[in-house]
Amino acid sequence: MASLPSIDEARAILLAAVRPLTPTDVPVGDALGLVLAEDVVAAHDVPAFANSAMDGFAVRAGQAGQRLRIAGESRAGEPYAGTIVDGEAIRISTGAALPAGADGVLPIELVEVDGDAVVLGEAVAPGRNVRDPGDDLRAGTTVLTAGTRVGPAELGIAIGAGRMAVLAAPRPRLAVVTTGDELVEAGAPLRTGQIHDSNGPTLAALAARAGAEVVGRGHVVDDAQATREVIAEALDAADVLVLAGGVSVGPHDHVKPALAALGVRELLWRVALRPGKPTWLGERDGKLVFGLPGNPVSAYVTFLLFARPALNALQGADATVPRTRAVLGVAVPRNPGRDECIRIQRRPDGTVEPTGRQDSHILSSLLGAEALAIIPRGDGELAAGTELVLEPV
Ligand code: AMP
Ligand code: MG
Repeated sequence: MASLPSIDEARAILLAAVRPLTPTDVPVGDALGLVLAEDVVAAHDVPAFANSAMDGFAVRAGQAGQRLRIAGESRAGEPYAGTIVDGEAIRISTGAALPAGADGVLPIELVEVDGDAVVLGEAVAPGRNVRDPGDDLRAGTTVLTAGTRVGPAELGIAIGAGRMAVLAAPRPRLAVVTTGDELVEAGAPLRTGQIHDSNGPTLAALAARAGAEVVGRGHVVDDAQATREVIAEALDAADVLVLAGGVSVGPHDHVKPALAALGVRELLWRVALRPGKPTWLGERDGKLVFGLPGNPVSAYVTFLLFARPALNALQGADATVPRTRAVLGVAVPRNPGRDECIRIQRRPDGTVEPTGRQDSHILSSLLGAEALAIIPRGDGELAAGTELVLEPV
């Protein structure tokens, strides 16, 4: 047991085998959720022109009480063509270009309109209510860096920076295959001994959340030849294959021999981890294969610990898992030989505690889980007050 790799060692072995996918140019509107493979530099100032932060009147700098003639209007998208001179005000909308010669804007609430004239309720200093060119983004500055995942804000910034397309990694094509004679589809009536295949849809959901495109989802019974055929097909279609169940060494576990027969190289088999000891990781021609244990919590946890960072690495994103820390609020038992990942929730005093029973078939212990906490292996209990390392769920 001592020779089994730890979570970190297993992850390092896996990540060393990842070959990032080749990026392509993607229309910016399609880039949501993708990882940038290049920096985005602002092509021009944003905003590109001085404009008004208010609906009101553009004027030259001056004192309160002045009566100015309304000489025209600058609307958003339709600037005032002339130059403002002393004694004039230009009606202006938010975002409209500041007319040439104007120094500032007084909002509508601070003026009194009197026919074709306006009386200033306050003095206007230069720059008042003016958004300068480059206020948001300066031309030539890097506004997004390679490795960033494009969210709604990044999308807007790339477009603001002048982009029509961005260089981004494609979504890894991922197939999920569940194994087991006992599995039936969601909603199907259960005969004794049967269970619903919850891992298939759950792992597909985790994969989609990690930026993958789920290109296939299958189920195979516990039969050597059928297992080989389904895996062969999935490996043709996908960059990443996630298998659940059938990976152990029982008489009805056919996944490992099938993978060996198909030339998938073993990266590791078994991790000093609970739940998730019987985890198998492999690779064939840059395609990654995850043979995850079938117990629902084990499949979930090992996907998070291993498949998620690998999917990030495939996409050129940082594969480092953002770990945080928290203080254990209650004593918990330790496993002598394996580090344990428990599902934790926050207590009113800010410390954390297990969400409930932690067995690998208790999927409900993931409900309300704020994170996975790593309980280092050891004898006896880990005392309340111990600082824990947390991994995101
Ligand atoms: P295995 O890894 O195939 O030995 O399965 C371990 C446990 O996980 C067994 O209790 C299985 O019934 C259960 N299991 C396997 N696959 C799934 C699945 N797709 N959904 C829910 N439970 C599963
Ligand atoms: Mg099985």
